[in-house]
Order: sequence, then structure tokens, then C-alpha cells
Amino acid sequence: MISSLKGLWITLKSTVNGLHKPVTRQYPETGTLWKRVQEPTPVQDRFMGFPGLTWDSKVEEPFCTGCMVCIRNCPTQCMSATMMDNPAQQEGRSHRRKIIDSFEINLNRCILCGICVEVCNFDAIEMTHEHELSTYVRNGDRMDLPALLELGKKFQEDTGWIPPTQRGKKDEADEKPDPSTETSAEASTEAKELEQA
Ligand code: SF4
Ligand code: SF4
Repeated sequence: MISSLKGLWITLKSTVNGLHKPVTRQYPETGTLWKRVQEPTPVQDRFMGFPGLTWDSKVEEPFCTGCMVCIRNCPTQCMSATMMDNPAQQEGRSHRRKIIDSFEINLNRCILCGICVEVCNFDAIEMTHEHELSTYVRNGDRMDLPALLELGKKFQEDTGWIPPTQRGKKDEADEKPDPSTETSAEASTEAKELEQA
């Protein structure tokens, strides 16, 4: 009798908890059974969605030089690209001699492994937070250069992206004291010493 009541109590407790905070629900619904919100659960910073190409806003061109390293290393061979001579380099605006001309990733075949990001030496590709690209069309997620750059730009804006090769330098710069404040601090100490003398 006592065991049955105990079991009933546990079942009731689980039911109430489930109503208050459901364990499973229809995507993208969040919230409780009484207050449903049609917004997907936000992803974490480390989340790896589909790859996107990054944009160098200093020079107004993609970071990608079309070097093909990512394409050679992609385990599913879902990427292709062509490069061209960079007109901006010839005009003296960019240091990139070659630049990407066309790029395509068949995201239906991408397994989100991140190898393309790991092997890229030019900060040109990132695993973005995009993950909702389902279509009813076979190969409906073949993304060309402009679309991949859009993915990348959105990721850069949303996360305050800093190129991976610049991150160490930025940390060092943040740690170094500001020379202007240092000089003014020294000057005020000297002034105080003079006043006391
Ligand atoms: S994304 Fe990186 S590795 Fe791939 S082609 Fe562009 S520069 Fe080369
Ligand atoms: S994440 Fe992996 S499978 Fe997808 S494009 Fe990059 S290397 Fe290829």
C-alpha cells in the first residue's frame, strides 16, 4: 500500500514538473505549457552550425584567397572554388595577391566537422551559428559565394568576431598599459613630488 502511494506521488510530481517545464516540445517552441514562445532556444557561443566565409571590412573584400586547402581537406568533398588575381592588390588597397572568385558548399553534404576552419590559414572560414536551412528540394542548400559571405558576415556581427590570428595580439594589446595614461600618471607623480619639495 505504502509503495503504491509512493509510486503515485512520484508520478504526480513528474507530471506537474513536465507541465511546468516540458522535457520535449515542438521546435522552435520554448517556455512552459501555459506560456509558449515561438522562439528557438538560443545557441551557445561554441555551437558549430554551417560554415560561412568571413569578410575583411578593412579592405572590403573576403578573407578567402581561394587557396583550396579547405577543399582538399573536406572529408565529404562538398566544397569547390576558383581564385583570380586580386584587382585591389594591383591598385595597392589589399595585400592579397589572389582572391576568391567563386565558392560553393553543398551544405546538404556538410557534416559540420570544422576541418575547413581548422586548416584555413587566412581566417577566411568559420563555423557559424546557422542551422535552420532545411528545404524540400534535393541539393537545395548549395550555397554560392555571396550566400556564404552573408552567413559569415552575420556571424561576425552577432559574435563581435576577431580573426583567430589577431586574437593573441589583441589580448597582448589589452594587457599593455596605455602609453598616454602612463605618461600622464608619471607626470602627475612628478608634479606632486615637486609640490612637496
Ligand atoms: S576558406 Fe581558407 S582554406 Fe579555404 S580556400 Fe579560402 S583561404 Fe583557402
Ligand atoms: S565542416 Fe567539414 S564537411 Fe563541412 S565543409 Fe567544412 S570540412 Fe567539409
